[in-house]
Amino acid sequence: MIKNHINGKWIASEAKESLEIHNPATGEVLERCPLGTASELDQAVQAAKEAFKTWRSTPAVDRVQYLFKLKVLLEEHFEELSRLVTTEHGKTLVEARGSVRRGIQMVETACGMPTLMMGEHFEDIAPGIDSKAVNRPMGVFGIIAPFNFPAMVPFWFWPFGVAAGNTIVIKPSERVPLTQVKIFELIEKAGFPKGVVNMVHGGKDVVNAMCTHPDIKGISFVGSTPVAKHVYVTGTSHGKRVQALGGAKNFMVVLPDAQLDKAAATAYESITGCAGERCLAGSVVISVGKETAGKIEELVVKRAKETVIGNGLDSKVTMGPLISQASKDRVKGMIQSALDEGAEILVDGRKDVDHLPGYFLNTTVIKGIKPHMTIAKEEVFGPVVLLAESDTFDEAIAWLNSSPFGNTTTLFTTSGAAARKFSYEVEPSMIGINIGVPAPMAFFSFGGTKDSFFGDVKAHGKSCVTFFTDTKTTIERWGSDSSIWSSGQGK
Ligand code: NAD
Repeated sequence: MIKNHINGKWIASEAKESLEIHNPATGEVLERCPLGTASELDQAVQAAKEAFKTWRSTPAVDRVQYLFKLKVLLEEHFEELSRLVTTEHGKTLVEARGSVRRGIQMVETACGMPTLMMGEHFEDIAPGIDSKAVNRPMGVFGIIAPFNFPAMVPFWFWPFGVAAGNTIVIKPSERVPLTQVKIFELIEKAGFPKGVVNMVHGGKDVVNAMCTHPDIKGISFVGSTPVAKHVYVTGTSHGKRVQALGGAKNFMVVLPDAQLDKAAATAYESITGCAGERCLAGSVVISVGKETAGKIEELVVKRAKETVIGNGLDSKVTMGPLISQASKDRVKGMIQSALDEGAEILVDGRKDVDHLPGYFLNTTVIKGIKPHMTIAKEEVFGPVVLLAESDTFDEAIAWLNSSPFGNTTTLFTTSGAAARKFSYEVEPSMIGINIGVPAPMAFFSFGGTKDSFFGDVKAHGKSCVTFFTDTKTTIERWGSDSSIWSSGQGK
């Protein structure tokens, strides 16, 4: 059974219930994850609260030294971490390496905190009166992660939080906690003072305890939309700051002037990379015009037939398994619903996979997708390419804007004017122009809109200072003569 990490120590959980952690490529049980309790969460919060007393006044230049040390350790263990991500999640090693790299970039960016969190100062806001504003850490923050990026997602938040002077409690996904256990070994080696970064394993009981705990100042959540909304509503009603990143339904539009071979390859990778288990995965490809649709269909079907499924550690494999049998069954059900609602299947990824160990689905390609279909509205989170057609560019934009989700969208075009119109008119907050997975880098902010994001302040980038600090403004009048000094008050 894996252990919690509280106040600098590995502690066995007191939980009565636990979950098996599977290698989704083989079905093998790797470990067990305890489903922790509210009292364990409280122990971690109390440790973090105590650590905050000295951490907050540790100069930022000293705080980030621990992150510099961690960066070196992460590089030394890069391959080991990437293999662990593949082993517990299933994604290919190439994808796992990319996600660990993104995580390390967060640590690098957070090392700039002494500059990022500098405040403001203004002389003579009125005669003889000056004003200054400082960004101050607030206390204990909670971080709740999803299963699809075992290494990267917690890094979107905690390095920024601790660099800004806060202390942290992380709850990894109970389905993929092993990578975080390894990362905590490295956090320990980097020498962070005890209680600054803590980890409590578990599921909804730990999440709910975080949302209501009186000593938690804010929560960063990433996961599905219903849980994101629940965490946002519960956390904010208990006086916390919450940034809750939710699910997605991402549309890709192909204009007739696009480089169609590149568009098809990019859209295909976006939809099927990570077996579709990415919040920025494309889903519905809307080609503008019959001719464009016909060419995209031909190119995508060809690619789908070239997919090599298998264990992501094998370099010949281009797509790994889904996370669980339940996910596989859910995606199969969504494919069937599309066919029942009148769509046409071109490549059926449900065939010839059930004899394999693990939770494999091959790529599915479906055409004739219409806005009213269930599969056109809900997140699939599996390797299913949905092909649709619209008569005009405006119709395609109207369709994607009608989605309740607003995470990302992509346009394929060679026209600057079309790209400008698209960026201007679409509602999702992360936009790709000839880019299939438009994931903002660490120094930009990440997050969607509508049902893909609940909160006001997005993840990483400059927003991290806004989320992880309170701005305190002082207005000062000292007098312009020396009378206070001559009376001795200043000595
Ligand atoms: P999930 O919502 O099932 O779980 C996320 C976290 O919430 C986990 O730590 C889990 O323990 C906890 N949780 C689950 N059910 C809960 C409940 N009823 N009450 C309280 N807490 C609960 O999400 P997942 O399946 O792990 O991750 C996939 C989802 O995450 C997808 O919808 C995907 O789009 C989304 N996601 C979004 C982003 C983004 O940036 N917007 C990034 C990655 C993943």
